[in-house]
Amino acid sequence: MTLRLLLALSALLFALPAAAQLSAPEQRMIDTVAAEQQRTLDLLERLVEQNSGTMNHEGVREVGRIMAAEFEAIGFTTQWVEAPGTDRAGHLVARHEGSATGQRLLLIGHLDTVFEPDSPFQSFTIEGDKAIGPGVGDNKGGITVMIAALRAMQAAGTLADANIIAVLTGDEEDAGEPVAAARAVLVAAAEVSDIALDYEGLSRGDDGEDMGSIARRSSSAWTLEVRADSGHSSGVFSEARGYGAIFEAARIIDEYRRVLRLAEPELTFNVGLIAGGEEAALDTDKIRATARGKTNIIAPIALARGDLRAIDQGQIDRTIARMQAITAQSLPGTSASLSFDPVTYPPMAPTAANQALLDRLNMVNADLGLAAMAPLDPMKRGAADISFVAHLVPGINGMGALGEGSHAPGESVDIPALWRQANRAAILMTRLTAEPR
Ligand SMILES: [Zn+2]
Repeated sequence: MTLRLLLALSALLFALPAAAQLSAPEQRMIDTVAAEQQRTLDLLERLVEQNSGTMNHEGVREVGRIMAAEFEAIGFTTQWVEAPGTDRAGHLVARHEGSATGQRLLLIGHLDTVFEPDSPFQSFTIEGDKAIGPGVGDNKGGITVMIAALRAMQAAGTLADANIIAVLTGDEEDAGEPVAAARAVLVAAAEVSDIALDYEGLSRGDDGEDMGSIARRSSSAWTLEVRADSGHSSGVFSEARGYGAIFEAARIIDEYRRVLRLAEPELTFNVGLIAGGEEAALDTDKIRATARGKTNIIAPIALARGDLRAIDQGQIDRTIARMQAITAQSLPGTSASLSFDPVTYPPMAPTAANQALLDRLNMVNADLGLAAMAPLDPMKRGAADISFVAHLVPGINGMGALGEGSHAPGESVDIPALWRQANRAAILMTRLTAEPR
C-alpha cells in the first residue's frame, strides 16, 4: 500500500467512530434536520410572533393551531382539550398510532409563555447564532425541536410504526386550578405511555457542557397558625399569661431552621411571610397579611407562610413529620397548628429508570460523536410539567432548546443547539419506539 492510501485509510478510521454506530435511517434523520434548518427557523419565528401569554387564551389557542397543523402534516391526529373551570386556554394533544409493539412515548411541551400581550418584548429577531424573542426558548424552541425531530423520523421511515402522544399544555407557566383538573390530560396520556420526554430547555453545566435532566424537586406551601392566651405584657412568661403567639411562632420557625437545614441534603425550606399581634390575618391568596398590635399586649395570634422543595415523596413525608413534631411542642399558654396546601408540583425523583434513560441518550451522544451528558443537580432547576407524571412513567427533561435569559426580555436560544437537540431527539425516539415494551 502506498503511504497516501495508508493516510487516507487512517483518516477514515479516525472519522468513523462519530458516525459508525448510526444506521442508515439515523443518518437520513440527521440529513433531514440539516436540510430543514430554514423551515425549522421559520416555524420558530411564526410561533414566537404569535403572542401566547398564559392568560391570552386566544393566543395560546392560535399557537395550538399552528402546532396542530405541524403534527397533522406528518400523520398525527390532533385534539384541542378544553380545561373547564380552570380559567386557562386548554391543551393540544397529538397522537400517532403505529402498528409496532415498541415503547409508547409521551412527549411534553407547552404553548404558553410568561410574556402577556402588554409586555414590551413581542418580536422575533436573529443575531448571529442567536434567535431572540418572547418564549423563544421556553418553550417555543422546545416544541420546534420536537417537530424537527418528528419530521426527520417521518422522512427516514422510523415514525410510521411509532406510538407517540404529544401533550402541549396551555398553562405551564401558571397552571390553572385545581391543578388536578389542569393536568388531567397529561396524567391520562402518561397512564398509556411507557416513557416521558419533556422538551423544556437543555441545561448547561459549569463549563458550558450539555447536562441531562432526570430529577426535579417538588414545590409545596405550608401555613403555620399559632394561638395564645393574651393579656398585659407585664405578665408575659408567667404561668397565668404564658409566652404569647409571637414567641411561640419564633420558637417553631427557628426550630424548623435548626432541624431541617441539616436534615436532608436536597431539601430546601423557606419562610416567606409572617404576621402576628393582637390581630393578624392572611388574604385569600395567602400572599398578603395584615396585623395590628400594641407593645404592651401579649400577642394572641401569629401566622406564617412558607414553602418546601424536596427530591422525592419520602423526603416530603419525613419533613412534614419533623415539622409537625416541632409544632406540637408548645410553650406555656400557646397552641399551634401546621397545614399544607395541595402540592403545587410533585417531585420527579432521580430513579434508576430515569438514569437508565439518560444512559440511552448517552449512547446516542456517543454515536453522534457528542460528549456524554452528566445528570444535572436537581437543586439547579425548578419544577416542570413532567413532574406531574414522574410517579407513573420514567422520563427525562431538557430535550428542548438551549436558551438564555428565560422569562425575561431578551430571552434567546442558541441556533446550532436546535440541530444538535433535534438529532438527539430523533435518534433517541427512533430507538425507544423500536424497542419492545
Ligand atoms: Zn417552560
